[in-house]
Amino acid sequence: MDTPLTNDLLDAWDRESFLHPSTAWGQHARGETPTRIVAGGDGAHIEDRDGNRLLDAFAGLYCVNVGYGRTEIADAIAEQAHKLAYYHAYVGHGTEASITLAHMILERAPAHMGKVYFGLGGSDANETNVKLVWYYNNVLGRPEKKKIVSRWRGYHGSGLMTGSLTGLALFHRQFDLPLERILHTTAPHYLRRADRTMSEADFVAACAADLEALIAREGADTIAAFVAEPVLGTGGIVPPPAGYWEAIAPILKRHDILLVADEVVTGFGRLGSMFGSTHYGLEPDLMTIAKGLTSAYAPLSGSIVSKRMAAVLEKGTDEFGPIGHGWTYSAHPLCAAAGVANLKLIDELGLVENARTVGTHLVAGLKDALGHHPHVGEVRGEGMLAAVEFMEDPAAGAFFPAERKVGAKVAAALGSRGVIGRAMPEGDILGFAPPLCLTHEEADTIVAATTAAVNEVLG
Ligand code: PMP
Repeated sequence: MDTPLTNDLLDAWDRESFLHPSTAWGQHARGETPTRIVAGGDGAHIEDRDGNRLLDAFAGLYCVNVGYGRTEIADAIAEQAHKLAYYHAYVGHGTEASITLAHMILERAPAHMGKVYFGLGGSDANETNVKLVWYYNNVLGRPEKKKIVSRWRGYHGSGLMTGSLTGLALFHRQFDLPLERILHTTAPHYLRRADRTMSEADFVAACAADLEALIAREGADTIAAFVAEPVLGTGGIVPPPAGYWEAIAPILKRHDILLVADEVVTGFGRLGSMFGSTHYGLEPDLMTIAKGLTSAYAPLSGSIVSKRMAAVLEKGTDEFGPIGHGWTYSAHPLCAAAGVANLKLIDELGLVENARTVGTHLVAGLKDALGHHPHVGEVRGEGMLAAVEFMEDPAAGAFFPAERKVGAKVAAALGSRGVIGRAMPEGDILGFAPPLCLTHEEADTIVAATTAAVNEVLG
């Protein structure tokens, strides 16, 4: 007879055999940190194997945009699996699902975008983008134009190149990153400006001047691309200060530097617009998409290439032969089927609109409840993204020392009230990125639980 899979047995196997991402491995193996075995979910809630029901105000890792338990997507995956579970996409192969999905993505993307290259996750899609940027400049006969600029506090993945693009110390110092050719410029996070006397407009001008200075120092003929999230995500959920993109975009144009909009979080409705690029009026040359493309029902990412850039890449393969870049699982049929069903569902349920209205309600509720708390430096958000940043003394511009772990403590106090938020990795920032199907009542629950958690930890 098979051994019954009790929670205790799974817990023991977990500690013996499983290296979890972003986890303190030694502590976990010794049983000093909890294991949560997630067993089910519906809408904005998950359920663990102990029977606890939690409101997931981070949509997994800001990815389960349509919410849990959508049978339409499960059925589409199953149907595709019965018909054809796999075929590759090399040398012109496709499936009904993958070709349809590429078409649907371009129907939704800004009009100047032209083609899609599929991957599996946000990291590999950004890896593809770096290669496409380099290849583009090789085709154009300027092999020295290869450096990539990203921002401090940007997050672009955990690979070697994408971990380098990421601008968070935690992702660099353990692995001898960043690699050469990657440069970082100022994070557009006004609350954390070095000079407290600066107005927001002065700060935006300083961000632009810092970028100009970096370009002047390195030489524009060595810089290929600027990679950025429309709204900083893992670096703290920070919408750009007013006028930021209007100041940055012309600098890139003037120096013939490509713009890669990393829309892994912002794509497919999270800001209350289909894309962050449309939300902020950006004209990227490349867009990185993942998470919301399938709402994480299956792993899938993509690089959307502008028509102008695609023409150069196609000229390159005419000259140099087929592109030397491919993943076995690119455009995997099961994932593509999930993507098609997911994008239909986003439209049918009006989730982009819901992200705007309920997201606005959530941010307003958090501002009302916590905006004047003596240890809250800022409540901010855009669409269905929100964050509360804690400070020791906001008026004096003093942040809490990292060792007090204020953000992590508030997140834990929130969890004990049945709501999942995320302590962002750098600074004391509690982040929210709920499923786009969140209701007004669920937003109110998040606000009430957060207020109670903040008062418990910070008085
Ligand atoms: N880019 C951004 C903006 C992200 O937020 C993430 C993941 N949080 C990634 C890239 C990397 O995606 P993945 O974890 O799927 O590799």
